Amino acid sequence: MFNNKKFNSNKKWRYLIYYALLAAMIIFVANEYMNGLKSQHIKYSDFINDINQNKISEVQISKDKLIIIPKSQDEADRGKVLYTERITDPDLIKKLDNAKIQYGGIPQENTAIRGFFINWVLPFIIIAFLLQLFLGKLNKKMGSGVMSFGKNTAKIYAENETGVNFKDVAGQEEAKESLVEIVDFLHNSQRYVEIGARLPKGALLVGPPGTGKTLLAKAVAGEAKVPFFSISGSAFVEMFVGMGAARVRDLFQQAQEKAPCIVFIDEIDAIGKSREGNISGNDEREQTLNQLLAEMDGFDSSKGVVILAATNRPEVLDKALLRPGRFDRRVIVDRPDLKGREDILKVHIKGVKVSPDVDLNNIAKATPGAVGADLANMINEAALRAVKNHRSQVNQEDLEEAVEVIIAGKEKKDRILSPEEKQQVAFHEVGHALVAALLKHTDPVHKITIVPRTMGALGYTMQLPEEEKYLNTKEEMMDQICVMLGGRSAEEVRFNSISTGAANDIERATQTARRMVTIYGMTDRFDMMGLESIQNKYLNGRPVQNCSIETASIIDEETLKIIKESHKKSRKLLKDNMDLLIGISKKLIEKETLMGDEFMSIIRDYNEKKGKESSDNKALTSHLEDV
Ligand code: ADP
Ligand code: MG
Ligand code: ZN
Repeated sequence: MFNNKKFNSNKKWRYLIYYALLAAMIIFVANEYMNGLKSQHIKYSDFINDINQNKISEVQISKDKLIIIPKSQDEADRGKVLYTERITDPDLIKKLDNAKIQYGGIPQENTAIRGFFINWVLPFIIIAFLLQLFLGKLNKKMGSGVMSFGKNTAKIYAENETGVNFKDVAGQEEAKESLVEIVDFLHNSQRYVEIGARLPKGALLVGPPGTGKTLLAKAVAGEAKVPFFSISGSAFVEMFVGMGAARVRDLFQQAQEKAPCIVFIDEIDAIGKSREGNISGNDEREQTLNQLLAEMDGFDSSKGVVILAATNRPEVLDKALLRPGRFDRRVIVDRPDLKGREDILKVHIKGVKVSPDVDLNNIAKATPGAVGADLANMINEAALRAVKNHRSQVNQEDLEEAVEVIIAGKEKKDRILSPEEKQQVAFHEVGHALVAALLKHTDPVHKITIVPRTMGALGYTMQLPEEEKYLNTKEEMMDQICVMLGGRSAEEVRFNSISTGAANDIERATQTARRMVTIYGMTDRFDMMGLESIQNKYLNGRPVQNCSIETASIIDEETLKIIKESHKKSRKLLKDNMDLLIGISKKLIEKETLMGDEFMSIIRDYNEKKGKESSDNKALTSHLEDV
């Protein structure tokens, strides 16, 4: 994966030398020990004694010593070799002859070579082999060298080919545009240097999860055809204190050796969190961050190293990271719009067999707010459904069902509702739909269903905007609240009894009403005063209040006022159109699912009939005109 020859072989040699020294030491000690076991020094006089007592079977005479092999039958002494220093004893041979002991010299060279081989070379080879095996395994387990603490143990690896290009990233045209420059810089850094331009050191990709930040970083590397070092911020702070900083150092060192290249730090908020505000402090994280800051200042960008980082919590990042000369560029990777969603769907449907009826524009319309990861997931869900139904192509129905699976979970046909429950659910859902149809500033109803879903909904009403919206007016928000409360209102006007089915509606309605008061300045009472701010914009974070406790209780009052008004309005609308409510609900119970056009045609038929009876019915306005 990693081709820097000089860098690599240098280290290898160092390790080989370490291994060799280690092995030599082990062998030396072992040899000494073994020799100590096998041979024993005795005095010359004892040796002579032994000869006289006929205890010796053989003597080998070498230059400086005599090696004595005893006759001993004792278990303990068997195989033992005795030796004594050679004393110039002219009678030695005579004594041996007399005792009928065999004697001779030692075949010098031969034993020396063999001994050397057996005692030194062979063990050396074996130990080297075992070490290799053992360390190899450990290395695999820990991701990198055990012999190299302080070196990087995180999975930093340079990919030479990420296999991702800009064309794989759809719906992020602005983001791509600002990254093209970086690609160009990596290609022709010389041109920039010549003209004296200061080169960008880093860019921060910011946006909600799943919008393609990681993908974009890879695409930059793919386009620039340079190595891509990728590491996640959390990997810097996982093991030992001090390791994080060492890793940062090592990362930058490697990067500079491989320049031009891209270093990508994903989820940088894990190390880049603001240092102020936490008194106890996380020393490890702080050290790592400081090291990162120092390295970013230190390296020479004209060599062609670009640092990319991604986060979905830019507001928690330390200000020092965003200073010029560090991550001075911010690339927003936001949720895709209608066109963007369609393009993303096109990218992901490429490898999938589809039938001619597939209309991706329609699916894109049905998925406002979905990010790239959701859409990729939807295509896959659709393909799975096609296989399940023994078809060889994905059709529009598969895709539509996949959208709903992502929104509401899988259908749960085995959940049997009692007839009473079914009634309650049907009226509830038609309540939402009818209020939506009767009010002016609402999105058209796309689908009403009372087929239960795995994510808890017993039924739901899907509204779809006709076009992508970037602004909401106060009227629209008020009407939205009415629609949310329409479910419960229908239960009330029809059964005069209420159920737990409105919990989610209540939560959403309250949230919308509260934001109107605290964030959007839509009440007379507070005028344009900002009372809350949203903390992490890209993670649907909770708002934080910036007001006194007294004001907070007035906020509650104002919110309640909006809710109560809307509830009253919904109830009145439904009461005035009771016949329609009952008629549509019956149809829904019968068919379980009504599509938007069926729903609207029921209303239209009813309206025509009613129009004939009395021409002064003004209740049905709004969408009826559009359809
Ligand atoms: P992030 O890093 O922003 O959380 P990722 O880059 O990991 O998101 O995206 C996850 C997956 O979603 C990608 O691998 C890709 O399949 C799909 N995806 C996300 N955004 C896009 C996009 N703009 N175009 C195409 N595919 C996308
Ligand atoms: Mg990511
Ligand atoms: Zn509801």
